[in-house]
Amino acid sequence: MFDFLKNGGILWKDKHQPRRKGVGISAPTGYTIHHRKRREDGGDDSDRNISFVSAEHHQAWNLLFDRYPNEKVAFKLEKYWKKFGEGKAVLMARQIVLNLLESHQKSRRNKLFNSKSLRQVINLTNINSKSEAKKLCAWILLFDNLSLDEILEICNKVWLDPDIEFFTKSKTAKISIRKKKN
Ligand SMILES: [Zn+2]
Repeated sequence: MFDFLKNGGILWKDKHQPRRKGVGISAPTGYTIHHRKRREDGGDDSDRNISFVSAEHHQAWNLLFDRYPNEKVAFKLEKYWKKFGEGKAVLMARQIVLNLLESHQKSRRNKLFNSKSLRQVINLTNINSKSEAKKLCAWILLFDNLSLDEILEICNKVWLDPDIEFFTKSKTAKISIRKKKN
């Protein structure tokens, strides 16, 4: 189900490296450390608060959701889902994003989202600004053409504060937040 994401390099919890006491976290080669609850909000270095994500995924997540509080992340996610998730734009631009990812991974000197590719995205889709094209690329990189349920699962497992989760009431795309039951 998550082949594209695995190929693109989000590392799941089961691949956590063992840590020795008193030794700081270090991400496996090729990955970066994502604090699910941000440090400035009191998030710590415990395993449950850390995800290892590729630099490209991290860049894409930050581009779309910046440093927003959870409510705003939910709001934005809903907005992007309506714009990109259900439209044809994703399918049309997907190959461009895969090519971008591949060339970026071959050589870090290649920009992840370069102007030429963003122009191609604009030509292919009904998106008409470079900043929106960039967001579509980031969306594809993070969520490809997954269902909303699958997207929320990834957010809940990888990106969000481990104490909360996003959910939708059946048949609506309205994203709500609840505390995780432990
Ligand atoms: Zn992060």
